[in-house]
Amino acid sequence: MRKVRVRFAPSPTGPLHMGGVRTALYNYLFAKKHGGDFLLRIEDTDQTRYVPGAEEYIIEALKWCGIEPNEGVGYGGDCAPYRQSERKPMYKPYAEQLVEKGWAYYAFDTSEDLDNIRKQAELAKMPNWQYNSISRMTMKNSLTMPVDEVQAKIAAGDPYVIRFKMPRNEEVRFQDLIRGWVVFSTNELDDKVLYKSDGMPTYHLANVVDDMTMNISHVIRGEEWLPSAPLHVMLYKAFEWEAPAFAHLPLILKPDGNGKLSKRDGDRLGFPVFPLEWKDPETGAISSGYREKGYFPKAFINMLLLLGWAPGNNQEIFTEQEMIDAFTIERIGKSGSKFDPDKTRWFNQQYLRNTPLPELAQALIPLMQEKGWVKEPSYVEGVCKLMMERAVFVADMLEGHYLFQAPVEYDKDAVAKKWKPGESGALMMEWKSVLETVEDFSHDGIDAAFKGFLQTKSLGMGAVMPLFRLMLTGTLTGPSSMDVAALIGKEEVMKRIDQGVKTLG
Ligand code: GLU
Repeated sequence: MRKVRVRFAPSPTGPLHMGGVRTALYNYLFAKKHGGDFLLRIEDTDQTRYVPGAEEYIIEALKWCGIEPNEGVGYGGDCAPYRQSERKPMYKPYAEQLVEKGWAYYAFDTSEDLDNIRKQAELAKMPNWQYNSISRMTMKNSLTMPVDEVQAKIAAGDPYVIRFKMPRNEEVRFQDLIRGWVVFSTNELDDKVLYKSDGMPTYHLANVVDDMTMNISHVIRGEEWLPSAPLHVMLYKAFEWEAPAFAHLPLILKPDGNGKLSKRDGDRLGFPVFPLEWKDPETGAISSGYREKGYFPKAFINMLLLLGWAPGNNQEIFTEQEMIDAFTIERIGKSGSKFDPDKTRWFNQQYLRNTPLPELAQALIPLMQEKGWVKEPSYVEGVCKLMMERAVFVADMLEGHYLFQAPVEYDKDAVAKKWKPGESGALMMEWKSVLETVEDFSHDGIDAAFKGFLQTKSLGMGAVMPLFRLMLTGTLTGPSSMDVAALIGKEEVMKRIDQGVKTLG
């Protein structure tokens, strides 16, 4: 088998959509699995669609996701440069080689010529006019013009393009690793421009020449490129090169399954579609990103792994090594996968629960600082331990504000329901005097004292616990009061009971 070399080849026309990240991920896993190489090539031949900042965004997004190329823009390598605009001089000789071999020709038709002919075709009720194996013989090109005229035009610097001469009545077939045999008739295909009058190759020529000269063994890309594949296969044939294997990935669909998840869907439907936040350089509009929303990159990647690929058992959480070991192209589904924002949150929750406490604390500390809350790392670990069960994101653990400061207010409904003026205050002061004597101020120590207190007073849990919780947190929700009390410590508990009784009367 050929050495596995795969590439991710985005065009820098905007931020990377999560479908693009998934394509990069599948390429990456496939390369790692087979001890191959994963390249990042930037396909920027269409200068009209170039968006400043997009290339940097792509590189940063892949880094954040941990899908790092071992060759490519920003990484270097034997096939450098990896940015197509910098490879510009390479492409023309290849286009000319095809002209010499009779697989391509020069075309001098202006854009007005082409517009006119399209209009006429529409008037004649023949829309979708194509420059193809039939119409080419009525156009201005090196197949219809005398050789000396063609040469004179080129010498005079007249603008021209080079078009592929798609043969008539041939069948193009190739075996897609996901879809099986794909068959096209060349009669459905037009004579695509390979080389443009601005001296740039088109996507098709540059893509094939680069895949060839970079020794790409497998082309794993989105399904939207499937219609281009027959032309690419024909180009390999024309160049007499061995074609790479192809795998066209199915689409990622909107959550309701109605159509492709597009760049515009994300914020409209309430979730990001981009890995990182993106600020449109023209309008300044912000699109949200998974990183800024607080997702763990590994959770995001794990979610993407299963959005189109299935392991064949019910494993859902994968380490990177497990992903590499389990991944096979054969287990990529043929049909589109619905994106599920709730499942995405679930993945983040699972990762949060599996993060060791010291790491979780380190992630929480900067968020606490934004609120002006300062605590020792060991204390913050205690906070994480209490809050992590209910958290989807690290920032959710800040909901336990009472673990950082005494309550500044008391939930009104809770007070109305539970607090009996003239009675509850006295009961809390009595409980406080019991607590004061507790030596082992841990969850269990406090719990034992609490049970004793209930017994001597002949009271049920429900008569005392909500009041105690109210004193400590100002609310009736959150982790166990014993845990909260043990974490904040005896002195603080004493203060909070005093404060609560004073405030509520
Ligand atoms: N430049 C194309 C893109 O933006 C690459 C398609 C391919 O991988 O061949 O997706």
